[in-house]
Formats: sequence, C-alpha cells, structure tokens
Amino acid sequence: MILGDFVVEQLSEGFFELFRDGSFVKMDPARLNEPETDPSLGRHSSALGIDPLLVQTPEMNIVIDPGLGWGLDHKSSHRNTSNVKTNLDVFGLVPEDIDLVILSHLHYDHSAGSTFVSNSLNTTPTFPNAKYLLHRDEWNYALAENNKKTNQAGADYRLDEIYRLAADNRFEFIDREQTVIQNGVTLLKSAGHTPGHLIVKLYSQSDTAYFLGDLIPTEYHLNHYPMKMMDENPITAKKMKTVLLREALREKAHLFFYHSLYRKSGRLSKDKDRQYIILDK
Ligand SMILES: [Zn+2]
Repeated sequence: MILGDFVVEQLSEGFFELFRDGSFVKMDPARLNEPETDPSLGRHSSALGIDPLLVQTPEMNIVIDPGLGWGLDHKSSHRNTSNVKTNLDVFGLVPEDIDLVILSHLHYDHSAGSTFVSNSLNTTPTFPNAKYLLHRDEWNYALAENNKKTNQAGADYRLDEIYRLAADNRFEFIDREQTVIQNGVTLLKSAGHTPGHLIVKLYSQSDTAYFLGDLIPTEYHLNHYPMKMMDENPITAKKMKTVLLREALREKAHLFFYHSLYRKSGRLSKDKDRQYIILDK
C-alpha cells in the first residue's frame, strides 16, 4: 500500500501451527475454515500468521521483523518455503537492497530470519548491507532468558545464530523511549511483552501507520487480551496497548499485524458498540 511518500508491504511467510513446546510447523490454511472438525487446533496448538513488513521510504529500504526465515539455510528441510528473501523478490528487491532491519524483539518467530547458515557453514547476516536496530533492554533481557525453559509457547529466545550479528557489530542499540530513525519513521518502546519491545510508527503526508509486533499481534487482540501467559509484564502490556489504540484511533492510523490469520492490516476505527474494528480504507 501507499502511505504518503512510503510504500509499505507485508512479506507473508504464510500460516503456521505453534505447539506448546515452542515448535512450529507449516500449516494448510484450509484448516482454518473447519475449526469444529479440527479439534486439535486450539487445544494443543494455535494457528498464526508470520508477516514481516517492508517499508520503502525515499531514503531507504527497511525490513521490520524478518520472520522465521525457513529455507534460507543451506541444509534446511524447508527449501520450498517462502521466506523474507523469496518475498522480497516479489517486489524486485534482493537482500542487498535492504538498508535497515528493525527488530521489535528477539523472540525466535520474529528474529530467526535475521541470519542464515551459508554453504560454507558460516552464520551470515541475511541482509549484508543492513544495520540491525533493537532496544538495548531487549538485548539484555534476551541474554538473560536465552535457553531458559519457558512454558510460554512462542516466547523463546534462540540466540545461537543471532550472536553473529553482535560479534560483527551489526547491531545498533536504541536506548531511548522514542527514537526518530529518519523523517517519518519512529521507534517507540512498548515494554510489557518483553522489557525492550519496540513498535514502529510510520508517518508521511499526514498518513499514519503502526507496526505492532507482539503488543497487538492480531485483529482479535484489539478487543481481547488473551496474552496474560505470553507477556513478561501483563499490566504494563495492557496499559501500553490501551494508550496506543487511543492515539491510533485519533490519528485514523493504519495498523499492520504480524500474526493475523484473517485481516492482516487496515485502518483502525470503532463500531456502534464502541469496539475496535479494522476497515479496508
Ligand atoms: Zn514475542
């Protein structure tokens, strides 16, 4: 979609089933149409989408949360899976074209596509010319949590392949609550899901959009809060979400969801029952 002078596109990796032990499998989206006949969904696992975001501004190409990255590694069993690289190709871009990667946080499902293992068995940044931005509080928290057993599916850190970025000085750490990256691109710290979680505000020609990461992962989460088990600090997360939605409604902002199954983006509004809804335009 066009947002003022920016082009913003979701780089969907498709639908996945997330199990309690934190493992993912690719899922046939047809199963979403038959939840009654597929009782395993919801009881033992949950379905989610993975939707990295591409933002092209007049100054730079940005990828926000590069996804699972399945199929990038030379020995991957997921050779035919769409990943951030195959999805950039749709827009005529190669990983070398990306100037900046923004990581909302380092949970595996958001950050694994940051690197891949090359034919020569070296862990390599997926985007060779990019700086990788993340909040310093996220890095410190991830280091403390890495390899800890968690019973929160989807809340695990697997940093083995990520350390390469730190060793190669590819990370740029954000320290503040609000950081303007360039005209119209601002990072906002939204602690709660993790202490250093970031959301991204885009603003161009009086149009506003937000990439919400795991603060509000799907449209369903606009009016519900089933994240208590997922968020490091549920009270803070709920407060952040309330404040953000109030502001985004005032701005008639466009929202981009990372994990949606049905509606993945749209303009925030409210219906006659004062419930948040997402409109096409
Ligand atoms: Zn997460």
